[in-house]
Amino acid sequence: MNKITIAIDGFSSTGKSTIAKQLAKQLGYVYVDTGAMYRSVTLYAMENGLINNNDFNKEALVYQLPSIQISFEFNADLGFAEVYLNGINVEKKIRTLKVSGYVSQVAAVSEVRQKLVEQQQKMGEDKGVVMDGRDIGTVVFPNAKLKVFMVASAETRAERRYKELINRGEHVNYEAVLKNVTDRDYIDTNRADSPLIKADDAIEIDNSYLSLEEQFDKILQLAIMAIEDYE
Ligand code: C5P
Repeated sequence: MNKITIAIDGFSSTGKSTIAKQLAKQLGYVYVDTGAMYRSVTLYAMENGLINNNDFNKEALVYQLPSIQISFEFNADLGFAEVYLNGINVEKKIRTLKVSGYVSQVAAVSEVRQKLVEQQQKMGEDKGVVMDGRDIGTVVFPNAKLKVFMVASAETRAERRYKELINRGEHVNYEAVLKNVTDRDYIDTNRADSPLIKADDAIEIDNSYLSLEEQFDKILQLAIMAIEDYE
């Protein structure tokens, strides 16, 4: 059976990664969480004094980019690949609200995007990949056979993210999470390089009122149709 490339883009906290992970597992594909890569670069900047409060030393980050290595290692217990920053597992550290608060500024830097997009294209060159992010269907794999664009209301997304953070033991309040979601929407859609936009040939799914199961069934059907069509 021929393998295809599946791009899942959309706004923050639309549940892209949950669906993408599940889909990859079902199809026997590789799942790549590109947000984790931008978050890892952000964590590097935070841990190396390149971000202090609202002061972001972009030039220093660009200079240090060659020293930032991001890799993924499959964790059989979890059933997905965890992200490593310079050989250290940072899967948990990158998911905090603090990292979320800076990541869109870092992701707007063209040099950062260039480095990560190149790595993402290499990871997907053999197809059989489900990649989620903001620019997968527009920039990373404009020829992806299936492109899905996920949307949901800001409130629905903030509620989901809030519950997720609380379950992880973070002390956050809902208003701060909602603000982070809307701030990131704004920066991600308005940046000059690769802004978040639905590709013309992407299929939009508003999952505000869909259960995980309903979303998964819908996207799995689309994937099966795209794979059959490709053969
Ligand atoms: O998907 P996630 O919420 O983890 O992504 C974190 C941030 O990384 C996004 O808000 C966006 O600024 C950036 N990002 C991006 N391009 C991607 C994936 C993520 O700019 N392909």
